[in-house]
Amino acid sequence: MTRRTAIALATSVFGGSAAQEKKVPIRGMYASPKPFWDTGARLPDYGVNALFVHGSGISQEVIERAHKERAQVYAEFPTLNGKGYIEKHPEAWPVNEQGERAPAATWFMGACPTEPKFREFRKWQLNVLLSKFDVAGVFMDYVHWHAQFEDPNPVLPETCFCDSCVSKFQKDTGRTVPGSTVRERAARILGGHDAAWRTWRCRQLVEWAQMLRAVIREKRPGTLLGAYHCPWTDEDFNGARRRILGIDIDMLANEVDVFSPMVYHAIMGRAPEWVGENVEWWSRRLQGRAKLWPIVQALDKPREISPLEFNNVLRLGATGAATGIMMFTVQAVASNKGKLEAMGRLYRSWS
Ligand SMILES: [Zn+2]
Repeated sequence: MTRRTAIALATSVFGGSAAQEKKVPIRGMYASPKPFWDTGARLPDYGVNALFVHGSGISQEVIERAHKERAQVYAEFPTLNGKGYIEKHPEAWPVNEQGERAPAATWFMGACPTEPKFREFRKWQLNVLLSKFDVAGVFMDYVHWHAQFEDPNPVLPETCFCDSCVSKFQKDTGRTVPGSTVRERAARILGGHDAAWRTWRCRQLVEWAQMLRAVIREKRPGTLLGAYHCPWTDEDFNGARRRILGIDIDMLANEVDVFSPMVYHAIMGRAPEWVGENVEWWSRRLQGRAKLWPIVQALDKPREISPLEFNNVLRLGATGAATGIMMFTVQAVASNKGKLEAMGRLYRSWS
């Protein structure tokens, strides 16, 4: 091996000299910080300055310790996941084009995005969260119509044709959808109003962002609103990110401060290099209209992720227009010394 090859290799593996000049303002970890703190580590020792914690896992203790270690706490806010709610409130169960309650999409069960009581419920939950805790941001999670995008073979059903959705669609668009059964109305919509229907569905997610933003403005103005979301490009799976999940980047970029594409390469059956390609795509597509803080995979699922592989996806996740980075999950990093060291080395070099 020549000296130049050795340097090039070291550069590509560990970030190298070029990466050392780079700054990444937000260096995060996702999930409860407990496993990290249990190792005896402190956040600044590893360059971590942001914790992304499930809303129900946030406590005054976590906030105080994070602040003491000069880190901000962001709340993950489960938005359109239905599990635990729709069983007791079946009116919010997503309805498919057959007029049936949609089955779970592998492990995920969504909720109807228009059901008024469900919207009120989430609004109330955010109110409670922000009344209690001084968080730096709220990150909407599961912000999509019922589907499963984390699998190599995604589950992409057509929903939701419940009365609430079909009547709101008619009211909002001024269109009439005749039919005496859900099945008939669904066929009319998919047959004759397809483009308007897709756009209207995207609009419902925008309404969610606006609704949560209104709570933020009232309770803690200045708190960031972010979204964890499907990382697919406009072309992937025949446009399913917009067509089925209802995520329209241009519409959402007006409402959301931070986009966090979930670039889980191994879970989604992609190569590590895809992380860099995907972040590059989002960088071009967003054109600076919102911040870009990708979340990469550290978790051994469905196969082992070596410290070197984790190092590489973390590094690639912070390329392009990304000004923040985090990984899924804290536990996966804290339980593996190699991954912990890789994170610390990169984060310290970016701080
Ligand atoms: Zn519905």
